Amino acid sequence: MKDGRDRTVLVIGAGIAGMEAALQIGNAGYQVIIVEKEDTIGGTLRSLYSSFPRWDDPARLVQMKSEGIKKCGAIAIKTGTVPVSATKQGTGYLVELKDQAGIQSKVQVDAVIIATGLELFDVSAYGEYGYGVYKNVFNTLEFESTLREWSENRSGSVERPRTVAFIKCVGSRDRSKGYPYCSKICCMITAKQAGLVRDILPDTKCFVFYMDYRASGKEYEEFVRSVIEEKHVRYVRGRPAKVQPEDGRLVLKVEDTLMGVPVEVRADVVVLAAAMEPSAGTRQMADIFNLETDLYGFIEPLYGSPARAAERVFVAGACTFAVETKGAMQQGAAAAAEVLAVLGTDTGE
Ligand SMILES: Cc1cc2nc3c(=O)[nH]c(=O)nc-3n(C[C@H](O)[C@H](O)[C@H](O)COP(=O)(O)OP(=O)(O)OC[C@H]3O[C@@H](n4cnc5c(N)ncnc54)[C@H](O)[C@@H]3O)c2cc1C
Ligand code: SF4
Repeated sequence: MKDGRDRTVLVIGAGIAGMEAALQIGNAGYQVIIVEKEDTIGGTLRSLYSSFPRWDDPARLVQMKSEGIKKCGAIAIKTGTVPVSATKQGTGYLVELKDQAGIQSKVQVDAVIIATGLELFDVSAYGEYGYGVYKNVFNTLEFESTLREWSENRSGSVERPRTVAFIKCVGSRDRSKGYPYCSKICCMITAKQAGLVRDILPDTKCFVFYMDYRASGKEYEEFVRSVIEEKHVRYVRGRPAKVQPEDGRLVLKVEDTLMGVPVEVRADVVVLAAAMEPSAGTRQMADIFNLETDLYGFIEPLYGSPARAAERVFVAGACTFAVETKGAMQQGAAAAAEVLAVLGTDTGE
């Protein structure tokens, strides 16, 4: 009969969900292997400048979890590595891994947690907004780096703007060119980024073009209201038909459907709140482990289970749908709890 130290759990993806799951399992006395396709752990949080709803520093959270992982002693990290196949073997899985040099290895594990996250929809599908054509049109993830650059007073690639315009729901809630669903967190991301522009560059004006805004979470409504009322970001209800270059700036024209007046904004930077879609890694893991997905490729936990997607395969974080940091961390903990329940009640034979 195996004891805890002989049981190994494979965590795929070292974002906040995977890190939390690994920590809970490692600290409970089981062996954990984390595989991460990038060279560093931390996932999307590594790219973020600041977090809603409390303006926290995401790097602090990543550091706290990384230190916990180092201290734990039961967690091995393989960066630059991805799973390429998995075969059911005994009660667990034999998983084949491949590193960046193309070297393959195999691990026998007793359970698997998939935490491979999401990515942003390619907004160049909206040719009218000029993404990939005009140099100062960004998606929200790219804009996090620009914010950092401005805050550190670095002379980066993006000049300090007089005006920044944000367009929401690009690729979401759109059956023709994007996805029919609402991506859930981009209203908050946009409010955060507009608020940050006003903090970092108080002379820069910010406009947010929206159809409606969704802020249903603890402290979310207050967060958006504070961005509008205290940081003086102007929300305009209406969807610009296009972004038009003119005299070195970007012009957005819209009918403000609340005020019933036409609005024209001359911006220097445009940020598109891109839809969230499953990452390539999430799609690959669904294939390799033969998991149910929804219509769009996000992995579905089995009915009635918070995290189980198949026998001894669990899921956590944004590979199941768009989720904020706290939710992803909670899902990591939920997946770990299910794994611990399974490993604690069988013999592994
Ligand atoms: C622009 C933007 C701004 C955001 N701002 C906020 C905010 O202010 N506040 C907030 O609460 N939330 C915010 N979020 C959401 C937050 O980033 C997510 O909730 C969180 O990152 C999800 O964590 P995760 O671990 O599920 O996924 P991720 O952080 O995406 O981690 C997934 C990991 O899996 C790895 N991976 C992928 N495929 C493979 C594979 N095949 N093999 C091995 N590893 C793989 C990836 O490299 C990555 O490290 C923001 C998201 C975005 C996109
Ligand atoms: S969260 Fe907001 S910006 Fe994102 S798709 Fe939903 S309504 Fe649009």
